[in-house]
Amino acid sequence: MKTIQDINFKDKKALIRVDFNVPLDENFKVTDATRIEAAKPTIDKILKDGGAVILMSHLGRPKGVEAKYSLKHIVDEVADILGVTVKFVSDCVGEVAEKASADLKMGEVLLLENLRFHVEEEKGDEAFAKQLSKLGDVYVNDAFGTAHRAHASTTIVAKFFPENKCFGSLLAQEIISIKKVLEDSEKPVLAILGGAKVSSKITIIENILDKVDHLILGGGMSFTFVKALGGKVGDSICEDDKQELALEILKKAKEKGVQVHIPVDVIAADDFSNDANTQICDINKIPDGWQGLDAGPKSRELFHKVVMESKTILWNGPVGVFEMENFANGTIAMGNSIAEATKNGTFSLVGGGDSVAAVKQFGFENKVSYVSTGGGAMLESLEGKVLPGIEAILN
Ligand code: AMP
Repeated sequence: MKTIQDINFKDKKALIRVDFNVPLDENFKVTDATRIEAAKPTIDKILKDGGAVILMSHLGRPKGVEAKYSLKHIVDEVADILGVTVKFVSDCVGEVAEKASADLKMGEVLLLENLRFHVEEEKGDEAFAKQLSKLGDVYVNDAFGTAHRAHASTTIVAKFFPENKCFGSLLAQEIISIKKVLEDSEKPVLAILGGAKVSSKITIIENILDKVDHLILGGGMSFTFVKALGGKVGDSICEDDKQELALEILKKAKEKGVQVHIPVDVIAADDFSNDANTQICDINKIPDGWQGLDAGPKSRELFHKVVMESKTILWNGPVGVFEMENFANGTIAMGNSIAEATKNGTFSLVGGGDSVAAVKQFGFENKVSYVSTGGGAMLESLEGKVLPGIEAILN
């Protein structure tokens, strides 16, 4: 796996695909700069080597050229974070972009306009990718968030740099973290899958059954399993058409020697609302009119025990409706348990969707080993797919 550490960028212009798809407020100010900060180590290394940096990214989902999606809005923020002046060019290809790149001196940074102002980007158009490739000597992919897309700047452009392409340090870290969980993992390995629905996690469950020793099935999806096993789940979220599948998963897990842990009790509510009345009940005896919205105390204890016994942990999906304060405690308890295990030397990866939001919201970000930066890309990795953006660099 070739990374920026394997290349000396002195006198080289690096064309870097970053993920600067950051949220902006109504005054076009960046409200969360995490993604820009995440790209800093890669950019710093190239500048320190004595190279120049050309940054390309998308922002939002523009339909053609739309001023509100211009990357010029983030130039000052990028400059602040990098601590260097950042030049900007009003197109990502063509004469202006080629001139801006040619005029760029070593040690300088140039940000290209939004890639998605050209429809060719998302189509993975080869001629467009070739135009992009003219801007740099080395292609660096550091955008995990778009690595599952075969777009021009994320995948196709790599073919124009057969010898001169590599992973940025962020993308390399993502690849290493996933590998640490799915391939080179220290046993026992635990996957915690939560979230709303079984249907959105089926492919992940099927892929990881071969790789884990323990599987916690929490959150909304647990009710489909409980009902399939003959329990009463009241008005809890449940996919009736997935019950057979749930039983099949449990059977497969048993065959493969995977221990499955389903919550034993829940905080049930008489309404899907933070102000609802609540009661603690066994997960298989939830009265009609009540719905399980969080893991109960016995479940939290059970989860804690399994977490503390594990040497490798993957966490995908909250174990309750953490967006509501009164139903966030199960997810917070899970975060605390994982933080404690991590302190004791367990490798923990949080990735794919809402568990990342929960981890950030409750301040666990620096208490787990790694928090992934890519939602869809992480989910597809966990499903066992080889991401086109990663494959393009490896080939
Ligand atoms: P996902 O995107 O599949 O990871 O699902 C995340 C969503 O699942 C969050 O918005 C949670 O509020 C929701 N969720 C977790 N537990 C429950 C539950 N017991 N009932 C309803 N929704 C839940």
